[in-house]
Amino acid sequence: MAETEIKKYIINTATGCMHIKDMCRFSQGLTSFVSFDTEQEAVEYGKRSIKTCKICMNQRDR
Ligand SMILES: [Zn+2]
Repeated sequence: MAETEIKKYIINTATGCMHIKDMCRFSQGLTSFVSFDTEQEAVEYGKRSIKTCKICMNQRDR
């Protein structure tokens, strides 16, 4: 399955929102996204234009 190729951090390129894989339903079933191994890579890719998903961040920090 293609999903196994998705790395941990995902940016939905349609919304500019960064998610963590499988942390919320919005990070699943995306059709336009880029994925990264680390949060830092994702942030560098998106620069200031990305938002972070509150649901994913709350789950991670729990
Ligand atoms: Zn999310």
